Amino acid sequence: MTDFVLPQPDQPSVAIRGSDKRFPVRRIFCVGRNYAEHAREMGNDPEKEPPFFFTKPADALVASGATIPYPPMTSDLHHEAELVVAIGLAGQDIPVDRALTHAWGYAAGNDLTRRDLQAEAKATRRPWDMSKGFDRSAVIGALVTSADGAPPRGRIRCLVDGEVRQDGNLSDMIWPVAAIIAYLSRLVELRPGDLIFTGTPAGVGAIRPGQTCSVEIEGLDAATVTFA
Ligand code: MN
Repeated sequence: MTDFVLPQPDQPSVAIRGSDKRFPVRRIFCVGRNYAEHAREMGNDPEKEPPFFFTKPADALVASGATIPYPPMTSDLHHEAELVVAIGLAGQDIPVDRALTHAWGYAAGNDLTRRDLQAEAKATRRPWDMSKGFDRSAVIGALVTSADGAPPRGRIRCLVDGEVRQDGNLSDMIWPVAAIIAYLSRLVELRPGDLIFTGTPAGVGAIRPGQTCSVEIEGLDAATVTFA
């Protein structure tokens, strides 16, 4: 046993639908601009370019159902409804046709974004970390296992206090799940416990203190969070 000078930090993890066991989380990767309409609403050209990635700390995870403080240093907190892939099998340079065998399961997620800080970072060519990877910035619902690794299909929606803000379809991804896994595995070796947020459809917008934001994906549990 290693003798640490501080208590060991808690292992971040995600609930699993229908099980008392939990999925241990290692890293959180996120894809930028993976739906054409969202790329356009953010002022970008959705012409096919390689996917790009940013990260959040694993301990930024928030379990669905939580009430959390409105994040500091922002007055423009945005929701981004996303399908999340949980990696169960390690791999590097994974071929696209083998990529889904590395997926353990899927969950609904919300890539919370301090949009004002992100706009400032873009304008000054600085990193996105503080606009994307802040405390409690990764909301996630229970994971659902996928026997063959295939992702869910159908609608992905975001509701704020019951009002539909985002209403897209997983089939509208520019880079489908298999392509994302394959491409990311060329940049880093994927390991069990890694999560990938796969991008958001159009309709991102602000959440105010006191509001409840829910991401719904067909076949999965919702990822819901309330801001104090
Ligand atoms: Mn996103």
